[in-house]
Amino acid sequence: MFTAPAAPWRAVALLLLSLATARAATPVPPETVAAQLREAALAGHSVAYSWVSELSTRFGPRPAGSLNEERAAEWAAARLKALGFDNVHIERFPLTAWVRGGESAAIVGPVPQPLVIATLGESPPTPPDGLEGDVVIFPTLTALEAAPAGALLGKIAMVNLRMVRTQDGAGYSAAVEGRTEGPRVAAQRGAIAFMLRSVGTDGHRLAHTGTVRYADGRVPIPAFALSAPDADQLERLSALGQIPRVHLFSGASYRADAHSQNVIADVRGTRKPEEFVLLGAHLDSWDQGTGALDDGAGTAIIVGAAKLIRDLPHRPPRTVRVVLFGAEEVAQPVKPGGAFGGHAYADTHRTELEHHVLAGESDLGTDRVYAVELPPTQLHGDFAARLQRLLAPLGILPPSRSPEDAGTDVGPTIAGGVPAVTLDQDATHYFDLHHTPDDTLDKVDRAQLEQNVAAWAVLTWLAADSDVNFRADGAVPPPAD
Ligand SMILES: [Zn+2]
Repeated sequence: MFTAPAAPWRAVALLLLSLATARAATPVPPETVAAQLREAALAGHSVAYSWVSELSTRFGPRPAGSLNEERAAEWAAARLKALGFDNVHIERFPLTAWVRGGESAAIVGPVPQPLVIATLGESPPTPPDGLEGDVVIFPTLTALEAAPAGALLGKIAMVNLRMVRTQDGAGYSAAVEGRTEGPRVAAQRGAIAFMLRSVGTDGHRLAHTGTVRYADGRVPIPAFALSAPDADQLERLSALGQIPRVHLFSGASYRADAHSQNVIADVRGTRKPEEFVLLGAHLDSWDQGTGALDDGAGTAIIVGAAKLIRDLPHRPPRTVRVVLFGAEEVAQPVKPGGAFGGHAYADTHRTELEHHVLAGESDLGTDRVYAVELPPTQLHGDFAARLQRLLAPLGILPPSRSPEDAGTDVGPTIAGGVPAVTLDQDATHYFDLHHTPDDTLDKVDRAQLEQNVAAWAVLTWLAADSDVNFRADGAVPPPAD
């Protein structure tokens, strides 16, 4: 496990920074500045921890389209202004908000037992008295898809796929389709409700929420996640021939006239301010916890890294842009169906995208970064070599591949032609907590948070201080004028 340097490093980092200030008249080599940023972050001089602490404490859960999310955005904008960022503003966009309401679940026969569930995001409510049906369990979404039309009439369909624990989070990608598509597939076969073994890796009696996807503008049947032990219980009952009959209730509702917002803040570049290095994370969170890890930590990491660069005696030539996205977590009934914050940014800034030199996001909690992925043109060569020299002391592997998916929020920007970068975090334990009531500040590992800030500060500084063209065509973008 990564551990922060002990107290003497603080003195060293402060000394390095003060040396940089003292020698402000003579240019400091970029690698020296990057090393100073790294050591300052490791020594705890970034605002990251106080940011995530205050955000998750003041506003708690921040569901997309909620007042909490809006207030958090207003607070973030005010704080970014106070920290000295340029061009700080909020960009609002319309949204259909989903509100959880009350929920309950129980086995009612053959023998009554309580169940721990969470209504899945965007699920419609049940009738006021709930609904009841026999549970039919499928090991995978594919098995549910194989059931013929009408096979589940009056039944509650359940997918019991166990998510695989991996360092790169690939287990989540393999399991999440059961959640997003399960309700549609179950409804097509006649089911009255859908249940899912939580997409998570823990054995706690907590359910992991998350969104389902709309089909033709609606989610057809109520949908729920079960805690892993409850999914096991239902599976064992079925194996005993005791087909469980389950009662489900959800008081979920929608608000069609809601809105969400992105918060933009720049560290304005000196010579090429029209060129942007974009760092993203999302301000909205699920409602069960306080969104400290998902994604309060990500917002803290990128703000922390950008603020260290903001405070250098010499700012980089290119602009460092921080975007705190709204509404990352939820699906929407209208096209493009989700990632509304990411799409709102890419649409609003369409004409600037050709001058976005690089984009990346932080959205995987606070566990340490162990690898970096660069655009194909820069996987080898001087930039990659310098980056590696500076990231190696943080325990980060040399770049060996390019991002396939740099994240939901920057996805539309990258689809607009902007090169992507990822700093890959260790996801071995992240999905024990993801989207559960346990996503709270006490789970933020401060030393690992600071390692993330250090890595982003180094990468961002090197990219913003350089003339490197990360685009596939190798052409230097024309001036914006
Ligand atoms: Zn997230």
